[in-house]
Amino acid sequence: MSKFWSPFVKDLVPYVPGEQPKLAKLVKLNTNENPYGPSPKAIAAMQAELNDNLRLYPDPNSDRLKQAVADYYGVQTAQVFVGNGSDEVLAHAFHGLFQHGQPLLFPDISYSFYPVYCGLYGIDSVQVPLDEQFQIRVEDYARPNGGIIFPNPNAPTGSPLALEAIERLLKANPDTVVLVDEAYIDFGGETAISLVDKYPNLLVSQTLSKSRSLAGLRVGIAVGHPDLIEALERIKNSFNSYPLDRMAIAGAAAAFEDKAYFEQTCQRVIESREAVVAGLQKLGFEVLPSKANFVFARHPGKDAATLAAGLREQGVIVRHFKQQRIAQFLRITIGTPEQNQALLDALQGL
Ligand SMILES: *Cc1c(COP(=O)(O)O)cnc(C)c1O
Repeated sequence: MSKFWSPFVKDLVPYVPGEQPKLAKLVKLNTNENPYGPSPKAIAAMQAELNDNLRLYPDPNSDRLKQAVADYYGVQTAQVFVGNGSDEVLAHAFHGLFQHGQPLLFPDISYSFYPVYCGLYGIDSVQVPLDEQFQIRVEDYARPNGGIIFPNPNAPTGSPLALEAIERLLKANPDTVVLVDEAYIDFGGETAISLVDKYPNLLVSQTLSKSRSLAGLRVGIAVGHPDLIEALERIKNSFNSYPLDRMAIAGAAAAFEDKAYFEQTCQRVIESREAVVAGLQKLGFEVLPSKANFVFARHPGKDAATLAAGLREQGVIVRHFKQQRIAQFLRITIGTPEQNQALLDALQGL
């Protein structure tokens, strides 16, 4: 703390990202990165941008990327917003679409950035408990609200919510924005983007950090009614007109265009996930049903914090949350088959 800090900064409670250890050779299964590299076509597209043109500002509207997203999903470019990581897209949505005097609703077990943005933008919130099976029950969201947000599949549980349930939520809340954070949708879930033409209160966000293996590039998108997109553009153009640089625009567009590579790598992660679930169950773990690139598991006889520490000693890093209701769970990212085997071998001895 310093005398130069504003009272506002003093009271902020920032997000704490998963550790990015500097040590090599670790089996890093703690931040849901993709074990396979980005599309070679995306890398080539970025390399082609490394030239004299870098003296020029990038396209402030990232039109090339918006077109690639619009083509991929069969929507209009006016229904697409892009930002510097989906965290930034989410921030603009909190700022521009959720500040309405009523509390924002999100699950008690959910992405821990949501309460941080509520703090940053002064938005009241109510955390709605997941049911006993750690699932979202849409009936529990039938209360006055200034918006609703949840990840689908949920994080850190990995559990999906059916489109039919999302539609019930949209119908029950026609006067507030429902934001579906689809950071992990490509690993077996069903995107709600198919519903955006029908529900003007639906905003869907996605990231290129997980399924398109570009966490280091920082690109996120949102799809929804042009009126919602315009709100995000107004915030963006009041904050930073050039959130995406030339490499990010080119690389992200090429990643969307390379459907074959994308589908193949997602399928490999999905197959590995099923192998990890089977391996964990064989070791006595209870694993929540997952449609993400991670699993959430607990052992009835072993303490999660002790397991996480034991894994770390063997060079395997997983994520453990101290939050009381999930303190006995480990969140484990799906890695390559070799990394997954290293995880299972290390757990065997603990
Ligand atoms: C990873 C993640 C994000 C953020 O993705 P970035 O595009 O890397 O900022 C958003 N929401 C959830 C639920 C995530 O897990």
